[in-house]
Amino acid sequence: MADGPAAFVCGHPIAHSRSPKIHRYWLDRYRISGSYRAVDVAPRDFPAFLAGLREEGYAGGNITLPHKEQACSWVGKLDAAAASIGAVNTLWFEEGGWCGGNTDAHGFAANLDERAPDWESGRVAVVLGAGGAARAVIHALQLRNFDAIRIVNRTLPRANQLCDRFGRGTSAHGLEDLGELLPDATLLVNTTSQGMDGHAPPPADPTLLPQDAIVADLVYVPLRTPLLEAAKQRGLETVDGLGMLLHQAVPGFERWFGTRPEVTPELRALIESDLSS
Ligand code: NAP
Repeated sequence: MADGPAAFVCGHPIAHSRSPKIHRYWLDRYRISGSYRAVDVAPRDFPAFLAGLREEGYAGGNITLPHKEQACSWVGKLDAAAASIGAVNTLWFEEGGWCGGNTDAHGFAANLDERAPDWESGRVAVVLGAGGAARAVIHALQLRNFDAIRIVNRTLPRANQLCDRFGRGTSAHGLEDLGELLPDATLLVNTTSQGMDGHAPPPADPTLLPQDAIVADLVYVPLRTPLLEAAKQRGLETVDGLGMLLHQAVPGFERWFGTRPEVTPELRALIESDLSS
């Protein structure tokens, strides 16, 4: 292993992960001697991987699909975001034990803060989807005191489960309610995989939104999703998913390598060109 702190991203599969490119960009930029590598670990091998982290000399790392929930029950200490979301995407070693955090809610909010600073002003959100990404978005919206968080999902019971979990301000809806919900929404967020390359777009019509609504999509392949294109044509402000991916990496880098890194236009361009290659 290279000199300096070592970190990893662990998932299955992992080859598609952009995290090594992001963290290596920052290691170079801040001239930090350290390493960050991708490790493919199948679910049956995950407990042994975790048990060997200290022996391998890791300061910490990122956890991605399908291990985020299992990591949550393994760590000795959870931060408030991981406890609320029920998943861990960042590990670090502190005071003799492993701690787990979730930085996706931070990444979501920091991206909107950067690209649509007025995003909090209306406080009525429609969230499409009820999976892992929706949990992070709902946590962020509650932290920013949204009055209404309308969770719309193809499978209604999953939206109901999130209402039970998060409480304050949330309500659950089927897709058939979209026509009624969109005219009141100030923020529409797609957290489903719909709109990804090869998938149909989500069935939300941006022409139903008010003129000052903001539309955010967590999908970043393609960067300009059909939902964002339709919203742009309607003249609405739009925010793509790449910034969330970049901003969620910031807190982990700071914990392992001791420097709070910046999401620069150069980093964005680097990952954007990687996504389109
Ligand atoms: P997940 O837990 O599997 O949830 C997927 C969600 O999409 C569920 O609500 C599911 O609805 C819905 N869905 C999938 N196919 C659908 C279809 N054909 N019609 C209607 N609804 C459909 O996935 P996830 O982890 O939340 O991730 C979702 C997306 O967010 C992925 O594209 C991921 O890449 C992206 N993401 C981006 C970032 C970022 O940094 N930008 C971070 C995290 C995730 P049902 O409940 O009805 O199945």
